[in-house]
Amino acid sequence: MAASRVLSNAARLGSCIGSRHRFIRNLHIRGISSCVDPSHGLTDEQKEFQKVAFDFAANEMAPHMAEWDQKEIFPVDTMRRAAQLGFGGIYVQPDVGGSGLSRLDTSVIFEALSTGCVSTTAYISIHNMCAWMIDTFGNAEQRERFCPDLCLMEKFASYCLTEPGSGSDAASLATSAVLKGDHYVLNGSKAFISGGGDTDVYVVMCRTGGKGPKGISCVVVEKGTPGLSFGKKERKMGWNSQPTRAVIFEDCAVPVANLLGLEGQGFNIAMRGLNGGRINIASCSLGAAHASVQLARDHLLVRKQFGETLSNNQFLQFKLAEMATQLVASRLLVREAAAALQDDRADAAALCAMAKLFATDQCFDICNQALQMHGGYGYLKDYAVQQFVRDIRVHQILEGTNEVMRMIVSRNLLSEI
Ligand SMILES: Cc1cc2nc3c(=O)[nH]c(=O)nc-3n(C[C@H](O)[C@H](O)[C@H](O)COP(=O)(O)OP(=O)(O)OC[C@H]3O[C@@H](n4cnc5c(N)ncnc54)[C@H](O)[C@@H]3O)c2cc1C
Repeated sequence: MAASRVLSNAARLGSCIGSRHRFIRNLHIRGISSCVDPSHGLTDEQKEFQKVAFDFAANEMAPHMAEWDQKEIFPVDTMRRAAQLGFGGIYVQPDVGGSGLSRLDTSVIFEALSTGCVSTTAYISIHNMCAWMIDTFGNAEQRERFCPDLCLMEKFASYCLTEPGSGSDAASLATSAVLKGDHYVLNGSKAFISGGGDTDVYVVMCRTGGKGPKGISCVVVEKGTPGLSFGKKERKMGWNSQPTRAVIFEDCAVPVANLLGLEGQGFNIAMRGLNGGRINIASCSLGAAHASVQLARDHLLVRKQFGETLSNNQFLQFKLAEMATQLVASRLLVREAAAALQDDRADAAALCAMAKLFATDQCFDICNQALQMHGGYGYLKDYAVQQFVRDIRVHQILEGTNEVMRMIVSRNLLSEI
């Protein structure tokens, strides 16, 4: 039923899908029927909304991804059109405007969208994570107040955990929230916040109690609240279609009514959000790798050196085979983790960490190899492959670095003994 919402919205928006054919050079990615076909193993319904997402990526995102990158444009209108398809609250419950789809469905959608622009899709994934956190941990009034606008992307959300002094050791965060009457007064700052300054709703982890994770709470801070300000827009290697800024709180009074869950539950809420976030970011890497394998394949088939096409060279054939194998193995692990999270399995957090670690490392390698296969052309901004490389590099760093992923996996293994 929820999937049919995505599909019926797609039919309604048919005029914006499939009618435009302006692609940057070499970029028109779809599911391809070969051993790397991302629709293998999906239900008919999943294949249909995967096609909706691929079409949206090819027609609404890919033609602009180079320009969004170079001019650092946050494509608000495009994202709102994606939200019309149900992609603003993919795993948010339908009673507050979400699509109510599963984690696996979500992964399939983010993989397909990323073939059109990794950076924009990655922001949409963070927005979805925040909407899910409010949907899941908010009370009825909070869900009703925030979720419908977020699902439509009438309002945009940011996730605020990292601080200048606390990155990997997130539980050491120092932003304070002191209860005064019916408000929490926030002081401190958050670093590297995706969407920061351009978004409307900030899901903020802050300290209401003592040291460590149990002293952390989660509050929603709305743009325009006195005492909330932003740092300069960061200049980045990739992810340029979304702004990154520090978020600063100076005696910022937030109504107690904006506390998500109970005092002291904030760290748990943040980590629960990130389990899904890690699958989503890994899925964005899958999309980039899928696109890059296809770009490399197409290039090998047409580029001639030493009197024949590069595709006749066995070294390059073997390389391509290895890239395809890395891609399919990554996808299988991401989908396994998505299923584990959906089923609320005890090992879900470890599997999400494994999937993020494996897929973001492997997919970066795939994109980088694809660039190498393009030779000098791969280094030119006319060719999409360099943007995929730049955009997915950060997936090995954020939502917990891949070193932190190793900590999560090993902790799970050792605690089982
Ligand atoms: C473009 C971008 C967007 C971001 N968006 C957001 C956002 O929206 N919201 C948000 O809250 N945060 C965001 N972040 C922050 C991101 O999550 C952090 O950068 C990340 O968690 C790492 O923290 P750090 O940068 O402080 O690195 P550090 O924690 O200082 O780590 C530096 C290096 O040391 C390694 N390291 C640290 N401790 C250990 C250890 N015990 N064992 C082994 N290795 C270790 C790390 O893995 C890393 O390689 C974003 C970052 C970037 C670059």
